[in-house]
Amino acid sequence: MTILLNATPAPARDIDGKAISALVLDEVREEVEVLSRQQIFPALAVLLVGADPASEVYVRNKLLRAREVGIRSLEYRLAENASQAEVLDLIAQLNADITVNGILVQLPLPAHIDEAAVIHAIDPIKDVDGFHRENVGGLVQGIEVLTPCTPSGCMRLLHETCGDLSGKHAVVIGRSNIVGKPMATLLLQADCSVSVVHSRSVDAPALCRLADIVVAAVGRPGLIDASWLKPGAVVIDVGINRISSESGNRLVGDVDYASARTVASAITPVPGGVGPMTIAYLLKNTLIASQLQRAVGIRQAEPAFV
Ligand code: NAD
Repeated sequence: MTILLNATPAPARDIDGKAISALVLDEVREEVEVLSRQQIFPALAVLLVGADPASEVYVRNKLLRAREVGIRSLEYRLAENASQAEVLDLIAQLNADITVNGILVQLPLPAHIDEAAVIHAIDPIKDVDGFHRENVGGLVQGIEVLTPCTPSGCMRLLHETCGDLSGKHAVVIGRSNIVGKPMATLLLQADCSVSVVHSRSVDAPALCRLADIVVAAVGRPGLIDASWLKPGAVVIDVGINRISSESGNRLVGDVDYASARTVASAITPVPGGVGPMTIAYLLKNTLIASQLQRAVGIRQAEPAFV
């Protein structure tokens, strides 16, 4: 038998977000079909204020995917100079509309609009982004609520890759309200030991090297390389960073993919990792919102047209 000394370890396998998001979308499609036979037609309202090009793309993709799985999608647009009162009026109308199950306000909003006021004007039971403080509190307490889409998608990627997460040490890099904090909470609920590393952490790479699972949500291209990782770690790269060069624009994550995959056992690519999961979980949340509304007795009206 030949024993290879210092053999190069096998590179990490890719965690295929496109394939796993397709599974989630199939689950949603099947559930929508069951509901439609009961004359229940889940609907998602998406509100875009202004014409930010990146937001336009995100909204278009969300509406397209919603239609593909049979969820009614309703697009609302207000001008860049719309007043806060106009935005709040529209949200009040959507809150009151029993044919609308989910409300998503595309962020960022123009600078003159108070983002927190808008988020907290959405009825928590229709808050498919899971950003309302009532949903944030419910998540921390382990109550069934609408949970932010990106962390929910990351959890599904981890379960598909590792199975049971119980007892694993997870390090989340970043502590934002939309990714880092809810991610850490979901990992804790899955019985991981969780550390959160952030911009003020002392020796972030050393803390990260203790982790079985690393979730990077920082917004710094290629910050995390092989030197941050324990051999065999599973790496989820949430970062989406646009890099411009002479050969054009490309998207990269917060993880230096080429370097990290020499040490990790599995890793999400960018693009094609976490990104597709976020939209899939937005649509799953629309279904959950519709279920929660039925559970509390909000009548689900048949829309005039589907
Ligand atoms: P954010 O700017 O709100 O938060 C970044 C966090 O990183 C902060 O908590 C900060 O403390 C931490 N940080 C900054 N520098 C650090 C350093 N050197 N070491 C350790 N921690 C550091 O960002 P966000 O909204 O959480 O987004 C993070 C990234 O995820 C961005 O690239 C964003 O585009 C991406 N994102 C992707 C999706 C998706 O669907 N894939 C969804 C949301 C966000």
